[in-house]
Amino acid sequence: MITYHCDGCGKDIPPKSLRYTVTIDVKAAYDKKEIGLAELVQDHKKEILDLIEQLESKSADEVESSVFKRLKLDLCPSCQRAYLKNPIHFHPEQAPPKTDLDIDAFLRSLDNPEPE
Ligand SMILES: [Zn+2]
Repeated sequence: MITYHCDGCGKDIPPKSLRYTVTIDVKAAYDKKEIGLAELVQDHKKEILDLIEQLESKSADEVESSVFKRLKLDLCPSCQRAYLKNPIHFHPEQAPPKTDLDIDAFLRSLDNPEPE
């Protein structure tokens, strides 16, 4: 059986209980570059050699992370509320109070509708 731990507060998430997953893609992004005649006729050999030299001093992980990194988190319901409140400065202890809405029961009812 897979055991999950909340990446926010570090507590174990009991088997079969509600947990939330967060996937964050951190990607390098640029505005579209207009390439003009000046760039096309320019010799880029030195730029490329400099870039290769910079890359040689870094690990493969470091280079990869500077272009793309996918982070996957598991969160308990309390940390999910804190995360949604402030995803950038996420502090599990700042979770808003639990609502009356039992989302766990609701989601489970979608899977196993009770006969009427
Ligand atoms: Zn948590």
